[in-house]
Amino acid sequence: MKNLNIKLKITIWFTFFMIFLTLIIFAFVMLISNTGTINQVQNTLVNIVDENLSEVEYDDGEIDIDDDFISYKNGVTCLVYDKNKNLVNGFSQYEFLNPEPFVDSEIKSVVYNNENYFIYDKLIIDSQQEQDIWLRGIISADESSIPSYILYRAMLITFPILIFFASVGGYFIAKRSLLPINKISQLAEEIGNSGDLSKRIELNNNKDEIYKLSIAFNKMFKQLEDNFEAERNFTSDASHELRTPVTIILAQCEYAFENAKDEDELYEALGAIQKQGYKMSKLIESLLQFTRIEQRIETTNFLVINFDELIHSICNEFKIMDIKNIKLIEELQEGVKIKADISLITRLIQNLIQNAYRYGKENGNITVKLEEKSNIIILEVSDNGIGISEEDLPNIWNRFYRADKSRGERKGMGLGLAMVKQIAEYHNGKVEVESKLNVGSTFKIILNKNNY
Ligand code: ADP
Repeated sequence: MKNLNIKLKITIWFTFFMIFLTLIIFAFVMLISNTGTINQVQNTLVNIVDENLSEVEYDDGEIDIDDDFISYKNGVTCLVYDKNKNLVNGFSQYEFLNPEPFVDSEIKSVVYNNENYFIYDKLIIDSQQEQDIWLRGIISADESSIPSYILYRAMLITFPILIFFASVGGYFIAKRSLLPINKISQLAEEIGNSGDLSKRIELNNNKDEIYKLSIAFNKMFKQLEDNFEAERNFTSDASHELRTPVTIILAQCEYAFENAKDEDELYEALGAIQKQGYKMSKLIESLLQFTRIEQRIETTNFLVINFDELIHSICNEFKIMDIKNIKLIEELQEGVKIKADISLITRLIQNLIQNAYRYGKENGNITVKLEEKSNIIILEVSDNGIGISEEDLPNIWNRFYRADKSRGERKGMGLGLAMVKQIAEYHNGKVEVESKLNVGSTFKIILNKNNY
């Protein structure tokens, strides 16, 4: 059963279900028809005996039976007995039932030689003659089983036909219902073979389960396509970023070997090489960190930390550096605790504050705010610096994106915010930004305590 395909499994289940259902229906019908016919047979028995009541009487000490007396009708045999319970009238094929005790006005069920009979006795009291007469009606219970027998025969004939139609019908229903799934698996195979993730499943008009499945698959294909595209871009961007320092290093080396006249010129070249070396090492370090977070290698370091205290200590480090004479204001709600990876969350805060300094104005302000409201923690870093244009705003979270390219400044590598976003999402949080060119920017990190 395990290795059967779904079509056959559905067919088998469906057929079993139909057999089960049919058996229940037949059993039910038999039960109802049996009870119905038993009642009917008993009613006939009582009616015929009752009809005969007025046809039997004592006349001059003799039992007088009218011509209208019904001896046999509709399977009911009627017999007359005197007070001593001796049969006085009627041919009885049921002599063996004579010894059955007489009980007035009661239907009795009697079994003789594995045959079932119903007996109904009626006592006729003649008060003048002081002699009683017993009237007995007998009917074979088989009379009631005839309809059941017909039903049983009908069932035997229809049952195999029904099973045949149930299995053929079940198979076609299963085949038809699974047709769209076949299409989906075909497409998945095509994508697997060609590697073309731009293909999508055609959606039908019925908004059924298959429609939902197709939407989910299309969404997954789109996500995979985007991820592959992002990976491709990332690799090409990273190579591009590394190419510049490598070119400079090689150029400096060539210059030093061929043209350096004295030690000073050699030192100058070495200094340029070292600068590019640092840049490359920083870039490689950042790339490694990205990979580590993506692969979730650092998952084990989640600890409960005092968030406000951590932010305060990072702010202090920046204050000591006294960059651009910028004033760093802290508005931190006390006692805010979060469960986080301390090194990653430190990196996130540092990146945001570093950007605020980097893109802040000389003598400007930076405000770092922390508040917690009903389990939602919001960290806000605002500055009154150069701001970001509306057109750049949606892209700043992308790796290697630098909005200030056009402004001629290339201070960072364009990885800081991408990392902030990645770290926030890693902590099940989200990022938001509001910014206006030449007015300033506000970066928000929203962390939900319920999410971990
Ligand atoms: P970078 O290393 O270039 O700073 P980021 O990923 O940190 O890279 O930032 C991406 C771009 O977003 C930056 O190049 C900069 O143009 C813009 N940006 C980031 N933070 C700020 C800010 N506080 N004010 C203005 N622009 C910002």
